[in-house]
Amino acid sequence: MLVYLNGKFISHEQATVSVYERGFLFGDGIYEVIRSYHGYFFETEAHLRRLQHGLATLQLPFDDFAGLENIARRLLAENNLLNGESLIYFQITRGAAVPRKHFFPPPGTPPTVYIAANKFVSPQEMAENGVAAITMPDIRWNRCDLKTINLLPNVLASQKAHEQGADEAIFIHEGVATEASHSNFFAVFDGKVITHPRSPKILPGITRAVVLELCRELRLPLEETPPVAARLPQASELFLSRTTGEVVPIVRLDNVVIADGKPGPITRWLQEAFAQRIAARKSQKALTQEILLTE
Ligand code: PLP
Repeated sequence: MLVYLNGKFISHEQATVSVYERGFLFGDGIYEVIRSYHGYFFETEAHLRRLQHGLATLQLPFDDFAGLENIARRLLAENNLLNGESLIYFQITRGAAVPRKHFFPPPGTPPTVYIAANKFVSPQEMAENGVAAITMPDIRWNRCDLKTINLLPNVLASQKAHEQGADEAIFIHEGVATEASHSNFFAVFDGKVITHPRSPKILPGITRAVVLELCRELRLPLEETPPVAARLPQASELFLSRTTGEVVPIVRLDNVVIADGKPGPITRWLQEAFAQRIAARKSQKALTQEILLTE
């Protein structure tokens, strides 16, 4: 597999970083994941905007965002990933500096830029039948809105879910559900879709934003209010949103079956609307390219 590291396209086996690399030592960096559908990048601008915002907040100097997309396209082509789905992983950290000091390295220290593209097989079974989830205390910091590579609480929660045969762990903070270890979280009560509002307690998921738009387009009652944890077992539907799953129904929470144990109608509508959105955006992009080529 060919990857990109600091200006070079090299085999993943040759891609190595210094032991003084600040991502390795401190988790001092930001990452992003974009999904490619047969070479069409879904919501690229939104993903790159989130990356840019994260880097600016960490005061991590980097500005070649247009270059990132070109690198990703070359990785897809060179790794034969244009047919089918893939995930493109971007990681930018504050670079390497000796000696190890917590404070920032001297100005001019180059960031470490790593990009990789991998084949992705869409989890059809999950989308069809739904998944189990567990709840966990949210022990994370107060900047969960930044997609930093510091993911230890998420790793521990995801492991706990995995051990219990569940797909996800829903974080509970002061009696409400914030989000999940690698997804945003939604509940449906009396036909109304509820999700935690944007705040430092959740990652502003790109998929979440699309789901909210689709709810509005479908005229589904919607409220961005924190779902009360104690009421979750009585929800008529629960679901997750994430780049790697789009809309994923939850049919069991902490071993309680949700409703009739099958994905509910609102979740289904959103899954269908999501697929249509991807198809529409993809053909819109192809049309624009055709017009540009014929001009
Ligand atoms: N919340 C967390 C903590 C995540 O790690 C992720 C994705 O990795 C999400 C939400 C979903 O975000 P997106 O829809 O942008 O993939």
